[in-house]
Order: sequence, then structure tokens, then C-alpha cells
Amino acid sequence: MAESINCKEIAQKIKNKLKVKIEKYNIKPVIASIVVGNNQGTKIYAASKIKACASIGIVNQFYELDEYTSEEDLLKLIYKLNEDESINAIMCEFPLPSHINKENIISAINPNKDVDCINPINLGYLFSSTPTIIPCTPLAVMEIINYTGVNLEGENAVMVGRSNIVGKPLATLLLKKNATVTIAHTKTRNLKEICLHASILCVSIGSPEFIKGNYIKKDALVIDVGINRVDNKIVGDVAFAEASHAKYITPVPGGVGPVTTATLMKNVVRLYEKQNSIN
Ligand code: NAP
Repeated sequence: MAESINCKEIAQKIKNKLKVKIEKYNIKPVIASIVVGNNQGTKIYAASKIKACASIGIVNQFYELDEYTSEEDLLKLIYKLNEDESINAIMCEFPLPSHINKENIISAINPNKDVDCINPINLGYLFSSTPTIIPCTPLAVMEIINYTGVNLEGENAVMVGRSNIVGKPLATLLLKKNATVTIAHTKTRNLKEICLHASILCVSIGSPEFIKGNYIKKDALVIDVGINRVDNKIVGDVAFAEASHAKYITPVPGGVGPVTTATLMKNVVRLYEKQNSIN
């Protein structure tokens, strides 16, 4: 029977360590979160992060802008936050309304305050050398893999999905740990056969339970990043009930999501430390 990884425990351990650090240094890191428009899912997600940050002493300044906000006004806000020395981290929630050019917003965020490593400068560091910041979800996945004790060196790892926020950076992190990495996407042929070679199978596609049991190698480590709402229920990208022959699998809900909230907080504290030359 596959072990459902206790991701809530992993998240709690990360938060406990951060709380100790925040109390030890008597610091008050501040993150500015921006939500533009009426996407209820985005608002709920942002609100849950505010609550989580507050629980360990991180201040969250919330900017809720209406969906008719112009790109110019959003850029002005970001430039203001970039300059404001009391702000350590900036997070702009996506999706944005269609009249706003996402790339312009991403590039406008000061790389030193870019908490989810979306600015191309930070992504460049991630791909080419030692990164100063790692995107929250890929970092969460690496924390989960580390918790299982699975050694990635020489193992076949398959990343299904190639988004800039999850698939590409996570594939890079797996590669840095010396896994042999294959990245799959919608144009990949023989996806099932490719997945069946994976000792580590990571999936981030946004397609409910698309990865069936017969895509999963026996004793594989399966990481399901997907979050999909189906009939008022949250399910992942992997058919969890069919994965009993895996060794480990992350549940959805209660899997990568809570660890990502914890790594977001870790990144806020990391940026604070960098800006204040602590460590
Ligand atoms: P995304 O931007 O939604 O893009 C989806 C990726 O999956 C694309 O690269 C696409 O390929 C690929 N894909 C889609 N259907 C596929 C299929 N049938 N076979 C193979 N590849 C397929 O990706 P994302 O932002 O990484 O989000 C994916 C999911 O993860 C969503 O459910 C999202 O809500 C969730 N998510 C969760 C967290 C968390 O913290 N747990 C964080 C971020 C995202 P192409 O490039 O060829 O189109």
C-alpha cells in the first residue's frame, strides 16, 4: 500500500523553524500581496496565506484591486512597493484580467523582493547557477522529497507539465540533484510509457485525475501538484485511489498545497535576511 505522505507535518515543521527564527531575531518580515479582479479562488487562496503568515509573525499587506485596474496603475503600485523599504516581499496573484500583460508585471517586480522567483533575472539564476530564491511550489516539492529520504541521484524522474512556475523550475531542481529528468507536455508521445519509467513522477498539469494507476511504476514516488475542483470536491492530477502500488504519494487536498504556503513564508524570511545581511 502506498504511503500517503504527511505533508501537513512537513509544513508544520517548516513553520515551527521559521517561528523560532522570527522570535530569536525579533524581526517582522512584511509581504505585500496583490490580487486584481474577482477570481474567488484567487481571493480565498490569498486570504488563507495571510492567515498562515500571521500565525508565525509575518505581516501581510493585502492590496485588492478591482478588475478594471489598468496595467499602468498596477505597475505604479509595484514600483511603489519596490521602493518601500518596509516591504520585504512582493507576491502578485495570477491570473490577471486579460487587458494586463502578465510579462510586464513579472518583469516589474524588484528581483530582491520577488518571493515566488518569477522575474526572469531570478529564473536565470535558478537555471544557471546558485539561486538566491527558489519558486515556492518547486521548493515545496523538494522539501517533500527530502522528507521521504529518497535519493534522486541517477534515478529517472519525469516531470509532466512545463509551466514557468512549477514544471520547468522543478525539473531544474531535480536535475541539480543528479536525477535523469524527462519533461513531458501536451505534445509528448507515449506519455504512459514515459511515466512508467519514472521512479519519481511529478505531475503539474491541471487535469483532474488524468494520470491513471497504469501510468505509475511500482514503488515510485509520486508528487501530485494539481489542484482541481470537480463537483465541489478537490482532486489532484493523479488518480490517487489507483496508485496503491506506488511507494509514496502526496494526497490532494492536504499535499503540496500546505507545504507551498510554508515555503512561501520561508522565502519571505529568506528575503528579509538577505536585505538585512542576516546569515
Ligand atoms: P499550467 O500553467 O496550467 O500549464 C499546464 C501544463 O501542463 C502545460 O505545460 C501543459 O502542456 C501541460 N499539460 C496539460 N495537460 C496535459 C496532458 N494531458 N498531458 C501532458 N501535459 C499536459 O501549469 P501549472 O501552473 O503548473 O498548474 C498545474 C496545476 O497545478 C493546476 O491544477 C494548478 O492549480 C496546480 N498548482 C498547484 C500549486 C500548489 O501549490 N499545490 C501551485 C501551482 C499550481 P503544454 O505546455 O504543452 O500546454
